[in-house]
Amino acid sequence: MATLSLQHIDKIYDNNVQAVYDFNLDVKDGELIVLVGPSGCGKSTTLRMVAGLEDISNGKLLLDGKDITNAPAKDRDMAMVFQSYALYGHMTIYENMAFSLTLRKENPNVIHKKVLAAAEVLGLTSQLNKKPAQLSGGQRQRVAMGRSIVRNPKVFLFDEPLSNLDAKLRGATRREILLLHKRLQATMMYVTHDQTEALTLADRIVCMSMGHVQQVGTPLELYDSPANIFVASFIGLPPMNFFDVTVSGEKLIGEGFEVSLTPEEKHTLAAYQGKQIVLGVRPENIVLGNDVPATVTMNENLGMNTLVHAYVGGNTGVKVTAKLKGWTDYKADDTVSFTFDRKHFFDKETTVAIHGGEL
Ligand code: ADP
Repeated sequence: MATLSLQHIDKIYDNNVQAVYDFNLDVKDGELIVLVGPSGCGKSTTLRMVAGLEDISNGKLLLDGKDITNAPAKDRDMAMVFQSYALYGHMTIYENMAFSLTLRKENPNVIHKKVLAAAEVLGLTSQLNKKPAQLSGGQRQRVAMGRSIVRNPKVFLFDEPLSNLDAKLRGATRREILLLHKRLQATMMYVTHDQTEALTLADRIVCMSMGHVQQVGTPLELYDSPANIFVASFIGLPPMNFFDVTVSGEKLIGEGFEVSLTPEEKHTLAAYQGKQIVLGVRPENIVLGNDVPATVTMNENLGMNTLVHAYVGGNTGVKVTAKLKGWTDYKADDTVSFTFDRKHFFDKETTVAIHGGEL
């Protein structure tokens, strides 16, 4: 059982750089939380404060309700897996996994049981007598996780554990972490700059920008109802397209195109009649239709889908990327016409999503 509570946490480094502002999060027992955001947004700093590797400047950190804000790292009962897995080259996989328990002078029978159990979970049973150099990058990362598992910590912390692996191995190891989480049912915090890792791994995502939490929610909530333009553009690949439009009766009028609003959309935008807003449309929500004329710049076939890059409203207009089903062979300067089958609306000044309701 392990819950974490981060309450109004700030981090101000000695050079007066504030890396984290008022971070609030209650992590449930067994939950896998992914902190995601661009480089420098404060993810690692937050994780390192939880681990006890950085002081917490303001605020409180509770583990199972107990205040551990100022507890030393070694007393926190947490294990951290880093991107560089730093195994001991002269030791076998077994010895590497047993190392922390051997240091603690645990009973050798207990150590043996724990190492075998962890190796079983990680599919490393047949590798235990090998040296790290004989293993693949993915297997070495699993050994690094094994070292954490044998300690049976309350909380697992992962700092970009996959960023040293190539694309194929990254996918495979990501699925292993997901399985591991299901088997161990342990509380985990995981840091990545990769939105795909966040969407595929997380029970809940914390999306950060410039030290501030932008949104906390399930992957589907962040994908389907992004709180603001930052989250909308960070989650989803290729990123969402954005257009400046004016709300005019039952229509949105943009540069070189008009789209009509459903009655629900009109209701959502009631407070914005006659005003400019930002319209967001995901590439996968664009289909061929009759509303939005565009000029193709590039056609990228991906197999099942094609990314069609185009300008809306002539060559000086807004760039748009559509993810069309199947295989298309558009050439540069071809004209196409799109329809948007799902729209997101954002306040132009605050960048906050418009959900309507409050008239
Ligand atoms: P992320 O993990 O999201 O890439 P970090 O938490 O590493 O971001 O960094 C957040 C901000 O804090 C950055 O502006 C970074 O330059 C700054 N920072 C990180 N570590 C230190 C440090 N030891 N001293 C001063 N500033 C730091």
